[in-house]
Amino acid sequence: KVQVKDLHKSYDGVHEVIKGASLDVAPSEVVCIIGPSGSGKSTFLRCINKLEDFQDGHIYLDGIDLADPKVDINKMREKIGMVFQHFNLFPNMTVLENITLAPTQLGKEDKQTAIAEAHKYLKLVNMDDKADVKPSTLSGGQQQRVAIARALAMKPEVMLFDEPTSALDPEMVGDVLKVMQNLAKEGMTMIVVTHEMGFAKQVADKVAFFHGGVIQEIGTPEQIFDHPQKEETKSFLDKVL
Ligand code: ATP
Ligand code: MG
Repeated sequence: KVQVKDLHKSYDGVHEVIKGASLDVAPSEVVCIIGPSGSGKSTFLRCINKLEDFQDGHIYLDGIDLADPKVDINKMREKIGMVFQHFNLFPNMTVLENITLAPTQLGKEDKQTAIAEAHKYLKLVNMDDKADVKPSTLSGGQQQRVAIARALAMKPEVMLFDEPTSALDPEMVGDVLKVMQNLAKEGMTMIVVTHEMGFAKQVADKVAFFHGGVIQEIGTPEQIFDHPQKEETKSFLDKVL
């Protein structure tokens, strides 16, 4: 369970980029975040796993406040998987090594267990036949699916996705979205920043419209796409749909 309460963040100490954003994500819920470029969507996600510091507000993960200086951020980060637009796989390791690295280095699993688990997640993303190759020999969509498997191998409680398909050739997008849809079906809690409105409509429990550093409007896909209430939401949807 993730709760963001009245989050404020500025990069320069003067201009706030996040101006009091709040969001509740229940276990197994999928929230898609949509909104214009520069509205703070990536910043918001990065605050949730403390890749960015924030000045005010609270982010609770299962009731533990990330704003509490006594909280062990590295331990918290293990509960939060993140997948970016650019997959950032380690180029000099095989696919399998990419996935087993963190669980073994952090002492979560011994090597044998980590390898068995890695194969399990590779099967889930349809990449098990590529376990022993280097990432550079894979397509963008394949690399992104490996990146998802790598994040899953940490057994996170929530997965954050920041435009995971935006850098992909169009023909690769579907495979990655399919994997994400399957994850959602299996009950993974997910926050997904996306421009894929079809995915948001089909998979999201809630769609949050981000604008000017706050969540302007949030609701079911039907509410947001078919009956938007705010002018900003309407004009954004007019542009993208
Ligand atoms: P996009 O859809 O283009 O990815 P976004 O909604 O993800 O946009 P952010 O990347 O969160 O938007 O950026 C929000 C604002 O914060 C923008 O004005 C951006 O210029 C600024 N910003 C983002 N990252 C930094 C940074 N590292 N340092 C300073 N300003 C930043
Ligand atoms: Mg962004």
